[in-house]
Parts: sequence; C-alpha cells; structure tokens
Amino acid sequence: MHNNNERLVKVLEHASEHSDFYKRRIREYGITNPIDITQWPILSRETLQAEKYAFLSEKYHGKSFNDLLIKKSSGTSGVPISVYWDRSDFYNSTMPSWRLRKKFYSITPLSRQANFNIQLFDDAVAKKDLICHEEKNIISFNKANLQNNYLQLYQRIKQFNPEWMYTTPYILERLLEIMKQYDLEPPEKLKYIECSGEILFDELKKTVNNMYKIIVANMYGAEETNGIALECPYGNMHIMEDNVFVECLSNNRFSLVGQGEAIVTSLHNFAMPLIRYNLNDEIIIENASLCPCGNTHRIIRTVSGRKNEYYTFNGFKISGYNLFESINILNNLMNNPIERFYCVYESKKQKLIIYLRIKTGFLLQKDIINNRLLSILNNRNICAREIIILNDSIWENRDAKNKQRILYIQ
Ligand SMILES: [Zn+2]
Repeated sequence: MHNNNERLVKVLEHASEHSDFYKRRIREYGITNPIDITQWPILSRETLQAEKYAFLSEKYHGKSFNDLLIKKSSGTSGVPISVYWDRSDFYNSTMPSWRLRKKFYSITPLSRQANFNIQLFDDAVAKKDLICHEEKNIISFNKANLQNNYLQLYQRIKQFNPEWMYTTPYILERLLEIMKQYDLEPPEKLKYIECSGEILFDELKKTVNNMYKIIVANMYGAEETNGIALECPYGNMHIMEDNVFVECLSNNRFSLVGQGEAIVTSLHNFAMPLIRYNLNDEIIIENASLCPCGNTHRIIRTVSGRKNEYYTFNGFKISGYNLFESINILNNLMNNPIERFYCVYESKKQKLIIYLRIKTGFLLQKDIINNRLLSILNNRNICAREIIILNDSIWENRDAKNKQRILYIQ
C-alpha cells in the first residue's frame, strides 16, 4: 500500500495546487491538510458535469482540447459526463488492468481481442446492419447496434478468431444461445471473456466454462477512471489499488471495508483530477485475507444498483441491492431460472413492477417462479404488485442505454 499512498498524496497535492475547482473546495470546506484524503468531501456526478472546465489543471488551460483525450460516459442519469485525460496518464491508468490480465489469464495488449463499445461509432445507432471496426489485433462492434444479428456477430467473431473478448453478460448470453441453437463451436483461440457493465450471474460463467473451457471473469470499471477491480481465477474481484483509491460511503461515513456507495479517487488523472468521486454503485468491500492467487488487494464482493435509487415502503428502504439479493435467493433455490431482471417503482401508485427474463427451459414454471419470488420478497418486506415475465427483444433495446441499473423510480 505504501507506493499507492504516495500516488494518492501526489494526486491530492497536485489537485489542490493546480485546479481551480479544488482550490475553491479547500476554501469552502475549510480543508486544512489537502493531502489528507479524509478531509475531502464527496464529488457528485452532477458537480463534475456542471463544472468540468474548473477541474482542469492550469497546465492544460492554454492547450487545445484536442491535445487531451476525452472520455465520455453516458451513465444512467442521461447526463453525459466528459472526463479529460493527458494521453500518457490515460495509458498509465490502463496498465493495472493489463498487468492483472497478464498475471491471471496470460492476456496482453497484443492478444487478439473482440471488443464491444459505443464510443467508436457515433452516428451508427440507426443503421440496421452489424457494424464493426477492425484495426490491428482488435475487432470492435457497436454495442448499441447489435439488433438481432447474433448469428452474424458470431460468424464475424469466429472469422476474426480472438484470444479474448471484452463484453457484457447480455451479449455473452445471446451468443451462447446462438451457439447452442445451431450447434456451433467457439473461435478456436478464444480462451478468456471479460464481462463488465452489468451483473454477471455465476451460472453463466460456469456454463461457458463447462461447455467450452473458456474462462469468464468480472471486470468492474468506469469510463471516468478505467479499471477498478478484476476477478482473479479464484473468483475474487481484487481492487486495482494502483489505479484507484476506493472507499465506501454509508450513513455519511467513509470506510475501507464494508458496504456502501463506491467512492473513487483516480490515481492517474492529473489533467482532470477526480477526488472522492461518487460512482453511485452499491458495493461491498472486504479484505483479501489469503487469496490463493497471491493478490493481497481488497476485494469487491458485489456491485449493484445505483444507491441513490431507492424508495421507502411501509417504513422499509428498498434499494436495487435488496432486489438483486431476492433474485439471487430465488436463483439458488430453483437452479437459476432468471437470466435478467429489472424493477420499476411507480412512486405515485406505490407500485413495484418486476420484469424478468427466464430461461426457455423454465417457461412452463412461470407461475411457480412468480409465487416463490413473491414470497421471498414478502419475507424481506418488499411488496411487489406485479411480476412480468418477458422473453423478447425489450432486453436488448434496454441494454444499449442502461447498464447495471436494477431499479428505476418513476
Ligand atoms: Zn485472488
């Protein structure tokens, strides 16, 4: 931790001396020792969005924005966030992820890669065909434009023959379905799949691993900071302490282990420092006592929901995390019938609707699933007025815009 503390101090020092925003914060919050992280307040997404130019370090003021790298994150609030990076800082912040990929899975930046993103494809959303972009050892697909072209997607990936894939659980599930349906083999070289952006159920990991001997690992990252945690071969998501300083916030208290909102400080971005930035994800952080992989960094146990999205019913506070837990219980009880879900709470009517996508093999058990889930929810003081089982394309359309959001309040 020693080196990482040094890095943290360097970032805090830099921000407090060179960024107008943080200089103002020091005055406004009466910060007496800027290199003491515990004195800094939380930085919200809204503040970052509203004051983005004030964050920039002096050094970059004269520079054209073209000299900086801009990373945009669509987020779930609909308000896009732009984070500016010095190119070399950005490169450095990707290194912790690469080091772990190499250590855990023998994947390097030179390995052939299939990637899914939106950033490369600005105006492509409306087009109907599968859109991809091939450059050197990387093939990228437009995540927002997969429509129902999963067979075509499979063929294109198979042809490219990547060693690894960076994708979402949703896309992986659809590819798996197509492969089962047409009895197709995965690309020969494919040995590793990294999933990010939404919750990856254990079941999917196991299926892919058992059927094809391909390892699936969970990546927790954010456009604003790059990698936050990567799952090791023993199933633990270790924090990249050399890229971000992670804390969790609960009842206005910050802690290094425990459950709460994920608060991150980027250890590499000097152009636009982010100190105690609230990612709005609910996480559980644990100490990594003795993980067989040898990594001693702390572990993130679950990532779910958006903390500020919760409602109160009969005096009980219900968050995406509670709903995720209930679904998990049902999946454990019934051998994993639920593949995806999300919940909508209509505040005015005090009505909770749960949308489920269940595996085809479980469609005949719809009623049992419905009743069991209702009783699990009731036991946890959650009153669901309606459970709707949908097995159609609504999931895909939803996927492009909303990532790991579980609960929508209307
Ligand atoms: Zn480990």
